[in-house]
Amino acid sequence: MMNEDALKELVAAVGPENVMNDQASKYLFGRGAVDSFSGTPDVVVHVTDREQVSKVVKVAYKYGIPVVTRGSGSSVTGAVAPSRGGIVLDLKALDKIKVDVENGIVEAEVGASVLDVDRECNKYGFFFPPDPASARIASIGGALAENSGGMRGARYGVMRDWVLKIEVVLSDGTVTYFGESTYKNRAGYDLLGLMVGSEGTLGIITKAWLKIMPLPEKIIRIAGFFNTLNDAADAIYRIRVRDRINPLILEYTDMEGIKAANAVKGLHYPELPGGMVLVDVDGHAGGVEKAAEKVVNVMKETHAAEIIVPDTKEKFDEIAEVRRVAFTAPGHLYPGFIDGDIAVPLSRVKDALLRIAEIRKKYNVFITTVGHAGDGNLHPNIGADPKNADEWERAKKAAYEINIMAIELGGTVSAEHGIGKLKEDVLLKQFEVRQQMPVYKLMKEIKRVFDPKGILNPDKYALSDQA
Ligand SMILES: Cc1cc2nc3c(=O)[nH]c(=O)nc-3n(C[C@H](O)[C@H](O)[C@H](O)COP(=O)(O)OP(=O)(O)OC[C@H]3O[C@@H](n4cnc5c(N)ncnc54)[C@H](O)[C@@H]3O)c2cc1C
Repeated sequence: MMNEDALKELVAAVGPENVMNDQASKYLFGRGAVDSFSGTPDVVVHVTDREQVSKVVKVAYKYGIPVVTRGSGSSVTGAVAPSRGGIVLDLKALDKIKVDVENGIVEAEVGASVLDVDRECNKYGFFFPPDPASARIASIGGALAENSGGMRGARYGVMRDWVLKIEVVLSDGTVTYFGESTYKNRAGYDLLGLMVGSEGTLGIITKAWLKIMPLPEKIIRIAGFFNTLNDAADAIYRIRVRDRINPLILEYTDMEGIKAANAVKGLHYPELPGGMVLVDVDGHAGGVEKAAEKVVNVMKETHAAEIIVPDTKEKFDEIAEVRRVAFTAPGHLYPGFIDGDIAVPLSRVKDALLRIAEIRKKYNVFITTVGHAGDGNLHPNIGADPKNADEWERAKKAAYEINIMAIELGGTVSAEHGIGKLKEDVLLKQFEVRQQMPVYKLMKEIKRVFDPKGILNPDKYALSDQA
């Protein structure tokens, strides 16, 4: 329970209307999107500007109160669960966006959604490349704290590749800046890079300066449907590596995912054992047709059973929706969802797809595998019923084995969704196998330097003393 004096100081900092301790608020802000981790905060504090963030954190620091920073709560790894109570700090109202065309930059407060930032840039003929499938809800702060990626990652990478500078409130409430709003900057250690992906454990980001790109003239979308996983994986490899096509997106959805998306959305896309490879090529009006032709040729060569090149805006959007819905399908069809987020070297995508199919059989669980195949990033998401002890146990074992498989293939247990609570054990396993325990020791020391009282998102990222 929060001490009375601390509560009074929080109310003085942000006003009584912004400090909520009713059951509904505590329930809603006690969990993320679809994972099974939750907690009960003492209070939910809504802030509207950076000054308020600093004041709230000063109170938390003074009284040693845990602070879980929250963007939109779309985390799928338990990263926003307030496991030790305390404050859930809601930053959604910090949502101002300013496009600086002269400098190719967008300045965004962290509560703005990734999609709103992209749309604001579109008004000026630009776009913001990172595009998590959750862009409609995911906040800029959450996306930075998770180092999120998305479909355009095949070409444009992840949030870390696009951020130049951030405004941060440190654990004692001090406000400072990491980086500069220039495209290049070598002043000091790369602490900006350290903050990106730190999952709210090192500081609270309140504003970001991000690079933007001119919009492409034209995009052609091609979807290939395959009879075997082998053929689909060959197409992915040949497009990205052998034929050096450099697509804007190179996505994969397996048969289970297509079936689920067809069922959920009432669609009729081919439900073939090899699944769907979805490719966007972009560029100047003339060149893009050539790139599209190359993709179609690769798909024919790898025995695609059906190739669809959508010719209307509706079909163009609908086919990407299949990929998006397939990601959440286990959550639609089952009460419990276990997020999968591995990345493997590009040449091992086929091995990973085949091994996931074996693991699905071995544990007899529902898995849809979708992913940003162009990055080697796959999401084998599992659906199961936590109340069915046997099924839930099989699901957890399958998830564990998939992560171990990623490590064995030279990959990683977390590509873009972070560690949170879900991946703590397999993160440590990865560090152990790769001789990175000294790095883990440094991580714990860094955490102590940034957050000596251990109040920022405690019990996450294998950083608590109990981990
Ligand atoms: C349907 C669905 C699809 C998804 N698709 C993708 C995808 O394609 N790619 C991808 O990368 N992820 C994806 N995700 C995961 C998730 O949406 C992203 O991680 C997202 O960027 C999180 O943003 P958020 O605002 O919801 O953050 P939250 O869930 O609120 O927070 C996530 C973490 O960031 C911390 N945090 C939040 N804001 C700040 C801040 N301002 N300063 C410091 N720390 C902060 C939190 O404490 C927490 O640790 C998906 C999730 C869902 C449910």
